[in-house]
Amino acid sequence: MARRKLIAGNWKMNMTREAAVALIKELIPLVQTEESDVALCVPAIDIIPCVDAVQNTNIKIGAQNMYFEEKGAFTGEIAPDMLTSTGVEYVILGHSERRGYFAETDETVNKKVLKAFEHGLTPIICCGESLEQRQQGITLDLIRMQIKIAFGSVDAENAKKAVVAYEPIWAIGTGVTASTEQAQEVCKGIRDCLAELYGSEVAEEIRILYGGSVSASNAADLFAQSDIDGGLVGGASLKADFGKIVNYK
Ligand code: PEP
Repeated sequence: MARRKLIAGNWKMNMTREAAVALIKELIPLVQTEESDVALCVPAIDIIPCVDAVQNTNIKIGAQNMYFEEKGAFTGEIAPDMLTSTGVEYVILGHSERRGYFAETDETVNKKVLKAFEHGLTPIICCGESLEQRQQGITLDLIRMQIKIAFGSVDAENAKKAVVAYEPIWAIGTGVTASTEQAQEVCKGIRDCLAELYGSEVAEEIRILYGGSVSASNAADLFAQSDIDGGLVGGASLKADFGKIVNYK
């Protein structure tokens, strides 16, 4: 089965409301394509103006995080129905910056994944190893553990709709990209792990993205790999280059 590519931007903590809308307007004509899905995961405060700005275009808006409770005394957090009520479709969960700076764990990622599905949101579940872990030769063991915990109690129907993003930490924002072989090897390892959990038919449907210094010059090679179904793009999604990545062929 041919999986439809997804090219998703992660703006991180960049863009005021005005700058966000201006960038969306600049990107709209550049990211037009029939071939792939296109999403921009924007800061929470920018979601509403961005959802408005992408009306009648092929861009979908995503969030960068979400809490796993419905509501209540969780100062500073965003509830799932706050996202769905704005028209958000995707939510990045377990990004390495959230794991590294904000103490997110595999267990909290799993709670968020379950809650996202409960609300009809598509989670973009991030996993990835540090340089030290890669040098220790434990990359695949670690990624398999991250995937197995993140998908705990997720049924096959929901699992099919999940998006996984393999993002080696040493490649994020560094300008160092994993080689196509390294990226493909881990993305295939993720698919094999998902096949162990859900069977190969389900695993073949799940989109697995690569993220880590994706650029206009390396996107085509990366996205041509058999287990790489698009990209999660940080820095390059903040400029017109994102259009070249979306139209990578
Ligand atoms: C990211 O943070 O998801 C990312 C991949 O960043 P960059 O493309 O800047 O490496």
